[in-house]
Amino acid sequence: ITVGFVKERNEGESRVAMVPETAEKILKLGWQVLFEPDAGVSAGFPNEAYPEMCQMAKKRNDVLNAADVLVGVDALSDEDLKEIKNDSVVVGMVSPYQNQQRFDQAVAKNITVFSMELIPRTSRAQAMDVLSSQASVAGYKAVLLAASEAPRFFPMLTTAAGTIRPASVLVIGAGVAGLQAMATARRLGANVTGYDVRPETVEQIKSLGAKFLDLGVEAVGEGGYARALTDEEKLTQQQNLAKHLTSVDVLITTAAVPGRPAPRIITAEMVDAMKAGSVIVDLGAEGGGNCEPTELGVTKLVNNVKVIGPKNLPATVPLHASEMYSRNVWNLLNLMNHEGEFVINWEDDILAGCAVTREGAVVHPAVTGIKE
Ligand code: NAD
Repeated sequence: ITVGFVKERNEGESRVAMVPETAEKILKLGWQVLFEPDAGVSAGFPNEAYPEMCQMAKKRNDVLNAADVLVGVDALSDEDLKEIKNDSVVVGMVSPYQNQQRFDQAVAKNITVFSMELIPRTSRAQAMDVLSSQASVAGYKAVLLAASEAPRFFPMLTTAAGTIRPASVLVIGAGVAGLQAMATARRLGANVTGYDVRPETVEQIKSLGAKFLDLGVEAVGEGGYARALTDEEKLTQQQNLAKHLTSVDVLITTAAVPGRPAPRIITAEMVDAMKAGSVIVDLGAEGGGNCEPTELGVTKLVNNVKVIGPKNLPATVPLHASEMYSRNVWNLLNLMNHEGEFVINWEDDILAGCAVTREGAVVHPAVTGIKE
């Protein structure tokens, strides 16, 4: 079989779904690799970095027309769908909640679509979890962004020109992105405080050398994930948080609730009350923002506080983000490798769990809205 990959279409998307290391593993199975010229160049992988046994197509459509398995970061655009081969398999981040008529078109061509975003979050599936791998890139980069936008140092410095106090950084949300942000800010020498509504994060935050901020609100829902707060809880959280916010220099927000818009935690008044020169990086921006003034893709000054709503941060660290993404994809493809044969075993809960279309139907509840 032939596994193909093309240059990503989305503006600003510099990642690639297959790095040379993964191509090598696929070739070892006896499968072929076919790619569009320069597909990996923006991620730091020029054509010649790929193993010689890989085939470089003349143009994009040659890959789409020929691949039995097409892997992508954003893998199912309307334009490509017209060209993707009938009866093929597509693996990538396919934004299952958006533009859902694409999946009917995929079914019409008998294309099996696997959504990397919908991989079940079980321990066996951890090595395929792109939400985690890419969130960890985002958490790291959010801190670097804050550090370069802040008018101050992060570490404590003792110099002939006097002593510099370390920056005070607050990270809200201690999932994968938040914990990575805390670790990164600690490495830069800041005083770090972390907050989450899941009580098990207390130990995780402390183990990074950060302090836990207790706001008196716990909210654990289905599967151990955070649930949305009640109005009363939200009020308690905001009141307690407002006091703490007046003393922070940098705020990184990463709060998310699965399948819902980002929780609105920081009001415009809370931002107004922050010190002049503070910086906010809102990783919830793509989900509507954890902070009221956040605008996606915009950096703005709100009462002398810089509010940054970054878009696609993983794409700004494209080499390592691609390596991690590509390993996640490889681990999923390897589930379909049965001694070199490509077989989809629908008994496998991971494959069944992330299939959006299969055997001539749209099957995933994220798209059909029908729960099992
Ligand atoms: P996420 O991106 O869904 O959410 C980010 C964080 O925001 C979460 O920690 C959540 O508790 C927090 N949050 C939500 N509402 C909040 C509020 N109002 N105030 C403060 N914080 C709020 O989370 P994630 O990074 O995807 O991971 C969440 C958990 O799932 C972690 O414990 C992680 O270890 C676990 N996980 C398990 C697997 C697996 O087993 N395969 C994979 C990934 C993550």
